[in-house]
Amino acid sequence: MDKGLIVAISGPSGVGKGTVAAAVEAKLAGVRDVAHSISVTTRPPRGTEQDGVEYYFRTREEFEDLIDQGQIIEYDEYLGNYYGTPAGPLAKMAEEGKIVLMDITIEGSLNLKRFFGDDAVTIFITPPSMEELRKRLEGRQTDAADVIARRLEQAKVEIQRAEEFEYILENRDVDETSDEILKIINKER
Ligand code: 5GP
Repeated sequence: MDKGLIVAISGPSGVGKGTVAAAVEAKLAGVRDVAHSISVTTRPPRGTEQDGVEYYFRTREEFEDLIDQGQIIEYDEYLGNYYGTPAGPLAKMAEEGKIVLMDITIEGSLNLKRFFGDDAVTIFITPPSMEELRKRLEGRQTDAADVIARRLEQAKVEIQRAEEFEYILENRDVDETSDEILKIINKER
């Protein structure tokens, strides 16, 4: 059986991690056994999001109970909400030889690496430039100017931590970046 691998992807807001992770999953479909880890969060659902699909939506109290029960393998706080990875399913997926792509905060990626060692690989995605990141955040048209300014400030702080990751990829083009990740997956296994 092929070895499983947890692919932990981090990077600043607007850099395109989610799109890149989805592109990698699409390229692996039918070639490798891909699995999806559903995180638990205390943030409310957005738009059409459903409990148990995008996330398990829980109250803060419920989330803290899960931590106390040892059911969360790593968690982090992001913009005032908890986000965490359920322990059991992830360990099982890795054991079953699956590739699990995770779009996760910096601390989350580093914690998964500490926990899973060689069964995890950490990838940091950077924007081609801060100007390009600003354009992408503005292009989303979901955030007010002050929110974008805050995200850009946050991005500068986050990019300084890229060196803590095993791989750093500059996301100029989703197709290119997802191919790079496929190469990393083949090499790491
Ligand atoms: P959003 O609210 O936009 O869905 O996610 C916000 C942030 O939470 C994203 O940067 C995402 O990478 C991160 N995130 C989602 N799930 C988890 C998780 O299980 N653990 C950690 N540490 N971060 C997560």
